[in-house]
This record gives sequence, structure tokens and C-alpha cells, in this order.
Amino acid sequence: MAPLPEPVRSIGTIVSYHAHVYFDGAEERAAAERLRAGIAQRFMVRLGRWHEVPVGPHTLPMYQVAFETRLFATLVPWLMLNHRGLSILIHPNTRFPRRDHLFSGLWLGQRQALLGERLPEDSPEADGAGIPNTEPAGTTPI
Ligand code: ZN
Repeated sequence: MAPLPEPVRSIGTIVSYHAHVYFDGAEERAAAERLRAGIAQRFMVRLGRWHEVPVGPHTLPMYQVAFETRLFATLVPWLMLNHRGLSILIHPNTRFPRRDHLFSGLWLGQRQALLGERLPEDSPEADGAGIPNTEPAGTTPI
């Protein structure tokens, strides 16, 4: 890959992160359910609804986990160890959704195709993590 012809970008431009958990078929959906429960028990995040058919740039069914930047150092390693073979895209949210998904993300499991043309190049505001909808007890080890 050629060096990027642009200024160095600061991590201060990252407002939040998403983890997109993909599943293909009943077995993977069951694994995605167990993973979702495991996340909810441990982390203050916003779990998105189940998308049983591909939406937006995504080419497989999935759900999204929105989380604050301070959770990266615990949630991402936990997902590394517990993703059960599922494909997960973890991407930053800056003001550039297309770049965030296509170039700045990292993958656990198999990389999946994304329909980047369905994402805006630039958006007026980066997506925040939203209000958490999990209630981790704080006693489940991570
Ligand atoms: Zn996303």
C-alpha cells in the first residue's frame, strides 16, 4: 500500500468504536447469541438490534456493539479470546464513515466483504457510543 498523501491523523478524532458481529446460518447465530450474552454480562456498551438480513454496507446478518474509546483495551482483547470463530469488524468512528469501515477497521475471524459505496465519505458528526443498554454486574471476570 502506498503511503497516504495526507497529514497524520490523531486518535483524538476517534469518538467511539463499533464491533459488528456477523453470523451466517443457525449455528453461527447461536454462537452470536452466546457472545452477546457474554458481552452484556461484562461490559457497559450499547448492543444494537439483530439484523437478520444484511443492511447498509454489511453483506451478512449481524448486530452492532457500540462502545466508548476507554473500553477498547478490555473489550477488544476479550473479543479476541472469545469470538467463537465469528467474523467481527471493529472500527473507529470518526467523521469519515467510509474510511472508518474500509481502511481503519480490524477483523477477528474471517474478513467479510463490505459495500463501501453505501457509506458516506464524510459526515457532519462522528457516531457516539450512545447510551449503554447493558448492566454488567461487575463481578463477572473479564
Ligand atoms: Zn459501524
